[in-house]
Amino acid sequence: MSHVLAAVAWPYANGPRHIGHVSGFGVPSDVFSRYMRMAGHDVLMVSGTDEHGTPIQVQADAEGVTPRELADRYNRVIVEDLHGLGLTYDLFTRTTTRNHYAVVQELFEGLHTNGYIVARTTLGAISPSTGRTLPDRYIEGTCPICGYDKARGDQCDNCTNQLDPEQLINPRSRINGETPQFVETEHFFLDLPAFAEAIGSWLEHRENWRPNVLKFSRNLLDDLQPRAITRDLEWGVPIPLDGWRDRADKRIYVWFDAVIGYLSASIEWARRTGDPEAWRQWWSADAQGKDALGYYFMGKDNIVFHSVIWPALLLGYSGEGDKGGQAGSLGKLNLPTEVVSSEYLTMEGKKFSSSNRVVIYVRDFLERYDADALRYFIAAAGPESNDTDFTWAEFVRRNNDELVAGWGNLVNRSISMAAKNFGVIPPLVSPTPEDEALLAVARAGFATVGELIGKHRQKAAIGEAMKVVAEANKYLSEQAPWKLKAEEDKPRQGTILHVALQVVADANTLLTPFLPHSAQKVHELLGGVGVHAPMPEIVEVDDLDGGPGYPVLTGDYTVGARWESVPLVAGTPLNAPKPVFRKLEPSVVDEELARLAGDS
Ligand SMILES: [Zn+2]
Repeated sequence: MSHVLAAVAWPYANGPRHIGHVSGFGVPSDVFSRYMRMAGHDVLMVSGTDEHGTPIQVQADAEGVTPRELADRYNRVIVEDLHGLGLTYDLFTRTTTRNHYAVVQELFEGLHTNGYIVARTTLGAISPSTGRTLPDRYIEGTCPICGYDKARGDQCDNCTNQLDPEQLINPRSRINGETPQFVETEHFFLDLPAFAEAIGSWLEHRENWRPNVLKFSRNLLDDLQPRAITRDLEWGVPIPLDGWRDRADKRIYVWFDAVIGYLSASIEWARRTGDPEAWRQWWSADAQGKDALGYYFMGKDNIVFHSVIWPALLLGYSGEGDKGGQAGSLGKLNLPTEVVSSEYLTMEGKKFSSSNRVVIYVRDFLERYDADALRYFIAAAGPESNDTDFTWAEFVRRNNDELVAGWGNLVNRSISMAAKNFGVIPPLVSPTPEDEALLAVARAGFATVGELIGKHRQKAAIGEAMKVVAEANKYLSEQAPWKLKAEEDKPRQGTILHVALQVVADANTLLTPFLPHSAQKVHELLGGVGVHAPMPEIVEVDDLDGGPGYPVLTGDYTVGARWESVPLVAGTPLNAPKPVFRKLEPSVVDEELARLAGDS
């Protein structure tokens, strides 16, 4: 058994989540974590909202609120979105906690002490009319990479490349349109080339990574440049060095602070459990964390931060780059075991875009459909290893043909028939080879499905679980227990139904990581009591170090089903079931397409 860290990419707190956001890594990281817990591992699943940086400051300026107010609003919305999907974070927090600031500053100082953060003179913008610093977000111009004419001083929103203000073509102030003047200013850079060798040899020994991720990461090492980690900006973590700490116009760059969130959230989780050192079991590179495995889940646009930059920060803080050094007070830290990157989800053939209304928000989706219907679609048809298109027609088809007509029908007919004819789970009497064969297929599913989830092949994993369902439906059709009406056929009818119910119970366990809400219901329909699939809860907490309070997502996931076949007990009372899944009317497709087109 291992300590398994599930480190899930941090959603940016500038709006509610849409289904594209949660398809690539949100739901898959939960499926993985649920399975690993059921298999007996000690899982720590952490993330939070990413709340610093220019885009939030710009949006807050536009709305006339403070960046903190904007972040507060969307932190809460996002927590609710993820809660609605049943994502079992041990801690989903945020980057504006005092704990996070302290951990970011600790890593910055450690890297600086070891010589991996260097000051450099660069060009910064000032307003010629006032002589004051012009923060990056107030500079706009044409992107030198893609030609988009409203690129900002730190990033182009069209091609998402990070930029420096002086790279913009025709730069202008967004405040008064004047051309900014560029003067020398000092910023801090991470000395990435000092890690090329260490990261190269670490990547050499990576196993099981998706080949495209490994290849992409190795290629990045060929051209590593020092990377700016501070900006001309007021909204962010202060620079923890003398002469810089109190400067209101310079902050740590948002990407540097956000990627450290995995560590700060683990530390916050440990502090909240009352054992402040407990995080070391997942992070420490010494004996305490020697069985630790770290899995990082993200979209493909974020690979560089997880396979190169985050390892560089961990190596530098541990004193393991070209310049050596000492580990800081947190000790030597573990590098990722695996970087699990997903591809993109599009919608009806188009890229998701809130401004162009090509979007369906998680909360709107959950108002009209069940969370497990979306979770099923994501597992069976999500962007695991290819860009994938969400269409309403395909969503309705999979819901009706696979979830309702396949799995729901098996659950419904076997439990109703047993409830009607016996009122209890009937006993297994003299099973035939056909009975034994089906029971064996279901039991074998635990090894097959589990191994596929462990290898992040969830599409194949749910396919294998649904094969067990299909076999059971076929078995019921062939055995036709409804025809065995005579009194002398009763024991045989009971045996067939016992076999079917046992396979329902096993398939339900196999599907629990994917469909936790309905798995709990099926467990109860079979007469089970207690928690089968644990759920997260939203808890209002105080900041541990005196800052404002906030909502977190957390839960007790030590309870619930294990990854094994549990024999049903004959004689357990059964009631006539209510359907677990809802069939959708074909008209849903037209209604949703009309909504997208803006007709309603
Ligand atoms: Zn661009």
